[in-house]
Amino acid sequence: MALIVQKYGGSSVADAESIKRVAKRIVDTRRAGHEVVVAVSAMGDTTDELLDLAAEVAPIPAPRELDMLLSSGERISMALLAMAIHSMGFEARSFTGSQAGMITDATHGAARIVDVTPIRLREALDEGAIVIVAGFQGFNRDTRDITTLGRGGSDTTAVALAAALDADVCEIYSDVDGIFTADPRVVPRAKKLGVVSAEEMLELAANGAKVLYIRAVEYARRHGVLIHARSTFSSAVGTFVLGDGMTLPDELSDGQEGEQMEEPIVAGVATDLSQAKITIIGVPDVPGKAAEIFKIIAKSGANVDMIVQNVSAAATGRTDISFTLPKADAATALKALAGEQTAVGFESLVHDDQIGKLSVVGAGMRTHSGVSATLFEALSVAGINIEMISTSEIRISVVVRGDDLAEAARVVHRAYGLDGDVEAVVHAGTGR
Ligand code: ASP
Ligand code: MG
Repeated sequence: MALIVQKYGGSSVADAESIKRVAKRIVDTRRAGHEVVVAVSAMGDTTDELLDLAAEVAPIPAPRELDMLLSSGERISMALLAMAIHSMGFEARSFTGSQAGMITDATHGAARIVDVTPIRLREALDEGAIVIVAGFQGFNRDTRDITTLGRGGSDTTAVALAAALDADVCEIYSDVDGIFTADPRVVPRAKKLGVVSAEEMLELAANGAKVLYIRAVEYARRHGVLIHARSTFSSAVGTFVLGDGMTLPDELSDGQEGEQMEEPIVAGVATDLSQAKITIIGVPDVPGKAAEIFKIIAKSGANVDMIVQNVSAAATGRTDISFTLPKADAATALKALAGEQTAVGFESLVHDDQIGKLSVVGAGMRTHSGVSATLFEALSVAGINIEMISTSEIRISVVVRGDDLAEAARVVHRAYGLDGDVEAVVHAGTGR
């Protein structure tokens, strides 16, 4: 008998039919003799709809009340799911985040889990019940208020429960089959990975892959939780995310034959269209200017990603500095910079929101040379211009024109030998 935590995303519980399908899956797991704890998201687009509703009654909704509102979405799905399980003849009990002992700090809308005390869950399991927990929410002991963990927070709920209950595996269900070598909607020949390391998954997620949330993967890595990302719509094995030093338990590696188990140099290709580029033209090339500039940007709250500084023109003693940041942060950053133009002494600002970022991620890069040459060569053959480059130990990212991004991802995917023999089946899923 194993203890299995299952997380179902909003797309898996979007309507009554889907809830019944999920209930059946949970019951099947229970029937197989396992203890089951479920973390569930709000039905379909409920969270977005609640946010829209809040915006209609208040321009800036009070954070405490917004959390009260948003946490109700998961209460609906947890209760319906427990009812559906009951009607199949099984005992199920639903719990809110606070009943489940999900203790967080007091930051409304982006609370961090500080402790998990799943006493009531353990009792319910011991009494033979299936446990259903509302995802994405917790409770702060000092304020005694309900908090939410931030968008996509149910993944983190599931992983935190798995850690606290010492579960054998944390299964994250969505409408896609697992983690792919690229987004199959962009790269049709993308393949499902059998296994990916947590380290690679973090880089993929940070650079545009949307199947798993970064915080959940970080939590799993820190607490040694085995994640299995898989589809609600099939019983096929999905993708296991392995933390440092973790290996796949034998009973779970069944069904993995035929998958490539040897570690490839490149695990996957991620694409991101959510960034913009700002170029500061004519910056005096003297010590201290970069510090001045990036202090201004940091104060504006923008999260800078890549930075490139050109060689200064000898004649002018001036240089250009470009950086990327989330599109949503660009307007504020531009305004902050423009306000300090005379103090810093630069000539002008250029804003470009038509860029795309392509990242190649693989732990094998540490020990193999020529990985970046393959990337540049593939882009060059396809006639795609590289505008910026940045690297980490296990990642190479380039900025290209946004319009070129999909083509870039396809040629690079092929160049690293990642293309599958057949096109991936896309269920038009969102991965949530
Ligand atoms: N319902 C929340 C959201 O849509 C939490 C989640 O789905 O994980 O962000
Ligand atoms: Mg959702």
